[in-house]
Amino acid sequence: MFSSRLFWKIYSVTTAITLISAGIVIWILAFRQSEIILNMIDERLQNSATLLTEQMEIAFRQPPTPELQEQLRTLQEETGTRITLIDNSGRVLGDSAEDYQTMDLHNNRQEVREAMHDGTGFAQRYSNTLNRNLRYFSKRVGSEENPLGVVRVSLPVERVDTQVTSYQQVIWLTATICSLLSLIFTYIMVGRLLKPLQEITEAAEAMASGKLRQEVDINSRDELGLLGETFNTMSRTSASRFEELQQKSRELAENSDRLAAVLGSMIEGVIAIDSDHRIIFVNRAAQKLLSLPVSDVTGRIYLELIRIPQVHELVNTVLTGYCQTSLEFKLNPSQATVAAFGTPLPGENAPGVLIVLHDISDLRQLENMRTEFFSNVSHELKTPLAAIQAYSETLLEGALEDPDHNRKFVHNILQHSERLHDLILDMMQISRIESGTDLFEIHEVHLEHAINVCMAALAPQAESKRIELTYECQTDNPLVLADAEGLRTIFENLIDNAIKYTPEGGQVTVRSYLQTSDEIEEVVIEVTDTGLGIPREYQSRVFERFYRVDKARSRELGGTGLGLSIVKHLSQVFGAGLELESELHRGSTFRVTFPLVFTDQKA
Ligand code: ADP
Repeated sequence: MFSSRLFWKIYSVTTAITLISAGIVIWILAFRQSEIILNMIDERLQNSATLLTEQMEIAFRQPPTPELQEQLRTLQEETGTRITLIDNSGRVLGDSAEDYQTMDLHNNRQEVREAMHDGTGFAQRYSNTLNRNLRYFSKRVGSEENPLGVVRVSLPVERVDTQVTSYQQVIWLTATICSLLSLIFTYIMVGRLLKPLQEITEAAEAMASGKLRQEVDINSRDELGLLGETFNTMSRTSASRFEELQQKSRELAENSDRLAAVLGSMIEGVIAIDSDHRIIFVNRAAQKLLSLPVSDVTGRIYLELIRIPQVHELVNTVLTGYCQTSLEFKLNPSQATVAAFGTPLPGENAPGVLIVLHDISDLRQLENMRTEFFSNVSHELKTPLAAIQAYSETLLEGALEDPDHNRKFVHNILQHSERLHDLILDMMQISRIESGTDLFEIHEVHLEHAINVCMAALAPQAESKRIELTYECQTDNPLVLADAEGLRTIFENLIDNAIKYTPEGGQVTVRSYLQTSDEIEEVVIEVTDTGLGIPREYQSRVFERFYRVDKARSRELGGTGLGLSIVKHLSQVFGAGLELESELHRGSTFRVTFPLVFTDQKA
């Protein structure tokens, strides 16, 4: 409590008021008391003078005697007042304190003059005779018309002062005791008053430091009690409100985490920009797509980081027009095609814009591929058809009868129709694989058997070109999950290509071996030739439909341009990997990797 400033403030103010009030009261009482004492003295002087007037009337009618002086002295001893008899000429006839004969004329004394004139007179002054301050009262003796003189009684004023002083001492003592008691009482009262306030202050401080649920125990039935009750209610309400807020903020944080996770895992790039053109949010996909820095992006002006005019246009259109907008642009230097959709953020006066970015490069490429595919198909079909038509017309126009050419022309027609047939078969197969309508019977297939079947089928072709076709088998009859027919198609195409694109006298080697990658056992089949090889820039494209490195040579060799595309699709269906290593004029290696089911040895 002693450390409480409020306590000392109240206490010092109360103490000052108490002491000032006590001083004023003492001063008023002392003043009033001296007045009362003077009144009492005056009354006493008056009474004495009245008594003496009757008693002493005779003394004014005869000359002064020593007996009179003695009588006056006796009366002074009895009454305590000095008595002076003065005749109407001002001569002193007798005095109880001094020798009357030595005293001068008293007719000019104020109290004497007043008494002679009005009957009574008062005065207070310093007496030269007695050398002290005296209070006088005079009363006329005789009638107004025929005054004999005045009887004057007096008392020394010091006695009044002494009485007043002693009375003041009592008052001072009483006032001091009262003040002390009052200060002790004030001290206790202020203390009692401040205790609940102190309790509430401490509880409020605890609340401010985070301990919200605070209760104070104030039992008084006054404003302080009411304050305590209100404080408790406020504490309970704010604690439960705070808990609600915490719960809500937890939910908000969870929601925002979820939203961030959803947005973060989106393939589409998402950027939120506020009306001041500052980035509010950007997800990983957008960072990657636009090559933005990973950190310190939020809060920055987007133009510092994204210098794409179309994005700027999109932001401005959405912010000013408050409508959804979309546009497409190409990124530099990646040349990726991006579709951007801008939507205003919810809220009044366009608080921002949400941009969703789609990398549609694959879509555009697919579209191009489709267009290319149709033009390729029509071209591939047109060439043999045109040839068949031309040979047929030539035959009909007379060549049929020409024994030197007719067989050759019919043979050509057959050759082109076979090519057309191969083409249509390949197209149907690729279309079935792509559309998923070609239902494969995927089961465990003996890989070596499939390779051997293909080798046997293509051996005559190799022989005709004097190509050494060998199979280096480093496996022990492994089983893979595939469709037997499909598996054969893969190897037929790869070995057929190897023979086709290897000049006479070359070598085509098929090799199978086991390897372990990431603790998974795999069986690898390599088809290596010593042929033309494929230039590096075309290596990724040879698996596209109708793509040929050398179109004329491929056609001449009876190729459709679909073989490797079928191999790629079938490998994907069987979960196999497909790789190509090739060096121009040195040869190529096509590598197919199947997950191993088991080998005979294992089984
Ligand atoms: P094609 O029916 O023309 O052989 P493919 O899809 O099988 O069609 O092959 C596509 C192209 O890849 C071929 O035209 C050829 O240029 C090239 N190619 C495929 N295999 C080989 C190989 N072993 N050596 C060199 N070039 C090859």
